[in-house]
Amino acid sequence: MRTAYQYKLRPTKLQATEIDRWLSMLCAQYNYLLADRFNWYEQNRSPINACPLICHLPELRDHPDYYSQKKTLPQLKKSRPWYAEIYSQVLQDVVKRVKVTFDRFLKRDSNGNRSGRPRFKPRSRYRTFTYPQIKEGCLQDKLINLPMLGKVKVILHRPLPDGFKVKTASVTKKADGLYLTLSLEDKTVPEIKPDINPDKITGIDVGLKEFLTTSEGETVAIPQYYRKAQKHLRVIQKRVSRRKKGSNRRQKAVKQLGKQHKKVADKRKDFHFKTANYLLSKYDVIAVEDLNVKGLARTRLAKSVLDAGWSSFLSILTNKAVNAGLLVVVVSAYNTSQDCSNCGEKVPKKLHIRWHDCPHCGCCLDRDHNAAINIKNRAVGLTFLKRNAS
Ligand SMILES: [Zn+2]
Repeated sequence: MRTAYQYKLRPTKLQATEIDRWLSMLCAQYNYLLADRFNWYEQNRSPINACPLICHLPELRDHPDYYSQKKTLPQLKKSRPWYAEIYSQVLQDVVKRVKVTFDRFLKRDSNGNRSGRPRFKPRSRYRTFTYPQIKEGCLQDKLINLPMLGKVKVILHRPLPDGFKVKTASVTKKADGLYLTLSLEDKTVPEIKPDINPDKITGIDVGLKEFLTTSEGETVAIPQYYRKAQKHLRVIQKRVSRRKKGSNRRQKAVKQLGKQHKKVADKRKDFHFKTANYLLSKYDVIAVEDLNVKGLARTRLAKSVLDAGWSSFLSILTNKAVNAGLLVVVVSAYNTSQDCSNCGEKVPKKLHIRWHDCPHCGCCLDRDHNAAINIKNRAVGLTFLKRNAS
């Protein structure tokens, strides 16, 4: 099983400047390698039968790939000796990052989604570097030994889990300081240990008013403090836009804005974790609707406002479920809010109508509650769950 733990770093001033220097060098190298890929791609992708008669053939050269780009690094270190001051594996990891981004652009990822054209990164958006292999015992007494940076102080707010080995270490610069992310692996823990009770099943529906509604009619509201934090975000956003571009005061406000964004994100994540834990302590199987469909209906569209939050909640929920040997089932979202959960007849209603009133069977429910029951029923109908039950 793989997992990741994140800790705050407390570098000395010297170490912090060095990390900044590394980041700007790595950023430049990233952009250079990406440009190299683009150049080749632009000049060579024309199919042979569509080639113009008079074409300005570029200087022929091999397709730059992971290995050929990696081979340019020693030359780089010769012509720009300051690059030799970066730990070599960290520098090599940039080549890998370019490869991954570019592959995702050309091919499709595992979900069949093609991502957009990779962008050149300004220095402010290049925030992470990675040690792809880090030695055992790099973490000692609240100090992490990062090759060529030295021992950096870490705030170990929780110990590493037993039996896990540190595989990689990344350093990330966020609005409120530097963070260390350790990816951990324990080969002895099996990936999934299914001990599911299919009767302990619930369906959940995303709401516009509530964060979610379960098929038992329970609701989880969006916490007040989260709304407050978001309100404050808007205040600071205004402050930024009012101040003169390029001024010191604006710069200050931008920094403040970054911090507030981080705060909101942290709060949201915390809320998502707590909600996921609560649901998984109560149920073994959780059914959710698949909002990841093209051609959204109008109700769907309104829900997609919530989408950013919802999809990150789903990934947390799914992850937690897998680790606990439980199950998250995705069902079709088609007409979940329109169909009657009691008799199955379609009861069309517009978005502002919050109540489900079935003229066919007299079923009377909150709109989201009705949808949640539909979602649950769809999951119960899935054959592999029935098989598990018998
Ligand atoms: Zn009905």
